[in-house]
Amino acid sequence: MANSTATVAGVEISTDHWIDGRRVSSSERFENLSPVDGSHLANVASGGKPEVDQAVDAARRAFPAWAALGPEGRLPYLKRFADGIRARAKDLAAVETMDNGSLMAGNLHRVVPRAAQNIEFFADWALTLQGHVIDSPEVTNHIHYDPSGVAALITPWNAPLMLTTWKVGPALAAGNTLVVKPPEWAPMTCSLMADIAHEAGIPAGVLNVVQGIGELAGDALVNHGDLNRISFTGSTGTAQIIGQAAARSITPMSSELGGKSPFIVCADADLDAAAQTVAGQYMNAGQVCLAGTRVLVEKSIEAVFLAKVRDAASHMVVGDPRDSSTRVGPLITREHFDRVAGFVERAKADGAEALWGGSPANFGDLYFQPTLFTHVDPAWEIAQQEVFGPVLTWQTFESDDEVIAVANGTKYGLAGVLFSQNEARAMRIASQVVAGTLWVNCFFVRDLAVPFGGSRNSGIGREGGSWSFDFYSDIKNISVRKGSFSDKVA
Ligand code: ADP
Repeated sequence: MANSTATVAGVEISTDHWIDGRRVSSSERFENLSPVDGSHLANVASGGKPEVDQAVDAARRAFPAWAALGPEGRLPYLKRFADGIRARAKDLAAVETMDNGSLMAGNLHRVVPRAAQNIEFFADWALTLQGHVIDSPEVTNHIHYDPSGVAALITPWNAPLMLTTWKVGPALAAGNTLVVKPPEWAPMTCSLMADIAHEAGIPAGVLNVVQGIGELAGDALVNHGDLNRISFTGSTGTAQIIGQAAARSITPMSSELGGKSPFIVCADADLDAAAQTVAGQYMNAGQVCLAGTRVLVEKSIEAVFLAKVRDAASHMVVGDPRDSSTRVGPLITREHFDRVAGFVERAKADGAEALWGGSPANFGDLYFQPTLFTHVDPAWEIAQQEVFGPVLTWQTFESDDEVIAVANGTKYGLAGVLFSQNEARAMRIASQVVAGTLWVNCFFVRDLAVPFGGSRNSGIGREGGSWSFDFYSDIKNISVRKGSFSDKVA
């Protein structure tokens, strides 16, 4: 079967799988439409068990040689991979924007550089893993980070390049070989990523990409039965399904899931900075798992703060994500748009009041107005469920105990944001909010060295820094009795 390509944003991209160092086609294809303007982007190969089996086989065969290279041996490949991502920054940014509607400027200046850093950073970090020794009275413990084998990486559409490289980087640096299943709603940059890895000289079979629908390709992958790791970013419901497959084959699984993060604004906060940051939650139309979507404001400053947020939100221009003045682009698909609109309608029916927004934007088909709901009961769906759209709720609080209880009053625990200029108070509240990440007087700052993940229904495990290597390695202790070697002391 002839290999297929599509041209997206002027960039020619393979629409096939990448397995064992070559393009592999499928007779089944799925249609990929752009959320930006509804245009047809590609018919992408729709994989299933045969393609997954080929990819896992290829990864299994490639594993011993890749693992044997060690961190130093893998470093030059991964540096070239990172350089290749940087060299194609414009293409990657433009394609990502057409594919998932994210802001082009953000993709160019933040996402693509970060994707390159994801590869480079973990390649460097891997050099530090060897030689850990823990001394005990009778033995010397030599801690080894052994590559685990074949890792399956499954990623979502809201930030495919960023979130896929965030897994690919440490998984490859740790010496694993990979099967990546990109999101079917935005599969194109992962296809380019495979080309870039190939051009960097990464050997055949080390990084495989199987395109396809979650319930088909993804399902075949997680049920393959001979994987060593599954790393997943996506929805909580999908994680429950994948978790069952992982449990059946005793495959370690890491998952980063949804959120309904609190955004706490204390009366002593820098209100201008806080208001700008609240408005920033509308970026990428709120399709950001980390977004602080529940604004919790200290009652004494409600009126003054609301005026500031209203002003900041009025600058959140809805429009074409290729335009540098746009702050809020489209929702990803009609299906998702209807889901977001459904949340909004039910919130109104429950009695919430939309202070602004609350309906589709007067632009394109899939664009929704930035929305703020007040008079929200914390028990209502709109304050409990992840909307994944440009929709914030507004509640007030009168004591720290109250805000901590409300902040912790959902099933999620991914992130939180807190604005206060009182250090003792900020740290007291921050330490009591259940979240993988709590940002104080800032938002979205993510050093690659720090742990990242969610508590409760927002995830299992942590990745980032050493935590990525804890997950992607088989950690072994070689415990040697002191003085037991005749040639030298252990
Ligand atoms: P989102 O709501 O962010 O789209 P999903 O959990 O539906 O989250 O999708 C995230 C990723 O999981 C996508 O790559 C999707 O194809 C994949 N996926 C969806 N369902 C399954 C499944 N049953 N098994 C494996 N992967 C799946």
